[in-house]
Amino acid sequence: MIKTFDCAVIGMGISGVLLAKMLARIGLQVAVFHDDKPIKTSFAESLPASINPLLARLGLHPYLHHSAHFPCSGTYSSWGSAALQQPDVERALQQKPGWKVDKSYLISQLVEDLPETVVMFGKVSGLEQQASQWQISSKNHMGEAVQVSAGFVADASGRQGYLPRALNIPRHYFDKLMAFVVNVPSVKIAQFQHPVLVEAQQHCWSLVSQVSEKSTMLAIFSNQTSPDFECYNSFENWHEVSEKSIYFKQFIKKNIHVPVRKVNASSHICSQLTGRNWLMLGDAAMSFDPLSSHGMTTAMYMADKAGEAIAQYFSGKSQGLDDYSEQMTSIYNTYLNELVERYNGEQRWSRSPFWQSKQAIHVSNEGAFVC
Ligand SMILES: Cc1cc2nc3c(=O)[nH]c(=O)nc-3n(C[C@H](O)[C@H](O)[C@H](O)COP(=O)(O)OP(=O)(O)OC[C@H]3O[C@@H](n4cnc5c(N)ncnc54)[C@H](O)[C@@H]3O)c2cc1C
Repeated sequence: MIKTFDCAVIGMGISGVLLAKMLARIGLQVAVFHDDKPIKTSFAESLPASINPLLARLGLHPYLHHSAHFPCSGTYSSWGSAALQQPDVERALQQKPGWKVDKSYLISQLVEDLPETVVMFGKVSGLEQQASQWQISSKNHMGEAVQVSAGFVADASGRQGYLPRALNIPRHYFDKLMAFVVNVPSVKIAQFQHPVLVEAQQHCWSLVSQVSEKSTMLAIFSNQTSPDFECYNSFENWHEVSEKSIYFKQFIKKNIHVPVRKVNASSHICSQLTGRNWLMLGDAAMSFDPLSSHGMTTAMYMADKAGEAIAQYFSGKSQGLDDYSEQMTSIYNTYLNELVERYNGEQRWSRSPFWQSKQAIHVSNEGAFVC
């Protein structure tokens, strides 16, 4: 039997679960599709202090007052020079600081609080539009096929993006960037408290971000222009390839064997973010270089705005979808401008193909960005 819902949400990352929560609050019947592969590596995402008003509007502060998450008073940075820029901890503490979140745990907290009007299904395996309804196929945990019908589809399936592939929507990529990520036992270094450290290096940039008291995420961001690109795949090589760093290498313990997770970290936006009865949000719609710390923040903001646009759609006003699309595209253009400025702030290795590739993104007069 086909089950019918008002709205289907594909993906249960932070954008999908927040959208499902909002749609249920306005009284819609929601089907959420999720891929229950366990997340093995934490990215130790940090959220800037400027996110606090959004967290308050979404009612998320009570979830963050849990030992899995902790306040974060800023980022140490060595960018543009060898000097270490310190975060202004006192100022951050006077105002409301940002947050280090355990994303998987936050999602599990939110899922637990979803009302019964939100029904969960497995991974989406097929999708087609018949008249004004979407027919969605999925498999449950027993491997049995399930069919769902919905009047609206929201794609929150992350960088893989289900709708761009199903509807042949082109994606515009602005750069090439891969993240090589490990979770390792924390190394205490007196100089850094709750470290988030960004350091530019000759062929890459690196990130240290504390996951918990015991665990820290280390990441190297680079692309195939780097002569060390293949070496980043094995943690055994990291000390050697980071030998010339000043700070990052202090966090790399030798003789530790941990798997390296390689993930796409480049910037892209889909050429269309909404249609008559669908929209995209989070990384499925547009993705961000982790240097910006915009990915999760914008995914949460998009869930908020997508909720408003879908509420308008169900009250007979489609203008909300156009406004959503326009607003998100504008946010993305601002982000790209900031990204270009940030990469151009590092001029120590002007002959490095990696830095040349990052500085080759430019803005045309029409506001289009090309590599
Ligand atoms: C190394 C690294 C560090 C980062 N650091 C930061 C940071 O400090 N601050 C910050 O704000 N952002 C950061 N980000 C970005 C941030 O993690 C993402 O932007 C954010 O989590 C995107 O959330 P999302 O809900 O859009 O997508 P996702 O978290 O990718 O969720 C999508 C979900 O959809 C599921 N899915 C996919 N296909 C299907 C299908 N067919 N059916 C059902 N489900 C499906 C996936 O399994 C996944 O669970 C970082 C990213 C990386 C790679």
